[in-house]
Amino acid sequence: MTVAVLPGSFDPITCGHVDTARRAARLFERLVVAVYAHPKKNLMFGLDERVEMVREAVVDLPNVSVTPYDGLTVDLIRTMGADVLVRGLRAVSDFEFEYQQATLNRKLLPSLEVCCMFASVEYSFLSSSIVKEIAENGGDVSSLVPPGVRGRLDERFANRRGVQPSTF
Ligand code: ADP
Repeated sequence: MTVAVLPGSFDPITCGHVDTARRAARLFERLVVAVYAHPKKNLMFGLDERVEMVREAVVDLPNVSVTPYDGLTVDLIRTMGADVLVRGLRAVSDFEFEYQQATLNRKLLPSLEVCCMFASVEYSFLSSSIVKEIAENGGDVSSLVPPGVRGRLDERFANRRGVQPSTF
């Protein structure tokens, strides 16, 4: 059985991540979406909330499970008995980082295969940070994130008032 792991911060999960998970779930017998506890990023959501949002988003995919993790991704892969690491690639700008990570991970775990999946065109512009910025400024993110994420962003930014521009 081929087991794949899709790791990420998922702060929060977007429709682009879900699309990658859905497509990877068709390729591999089991897919584990792994939510990294302590990425070196300014997080908006805590680990439990990020895991919960991912679980809600992939609930209809029977061969997909979700786990939090900390430490090295290769250690998680060993623990899971997984064979493949899946990552999504949006643009050329993603490539350099993903190539470096893939090469290092294969140095640490030579049996590992890394599978980079090109983002679907409709999500190739989408990132968690852009979603947070739109939501923070009162924009509509309903076509960019799963419904549960949208609800949480709405709650988070309810009652938020920006600086009013002066008029002529
Ligand atoms: P990380 O902090 O590890 O980069 P992210 O949560 O930002 O984690 O992303 C997890 C994975 O999903 C990464 O491989 C990333 O390139 C990919 N990804 C992010 N946004 C999209 C998208 N819009 N479409 C497809 N894949 C994406």
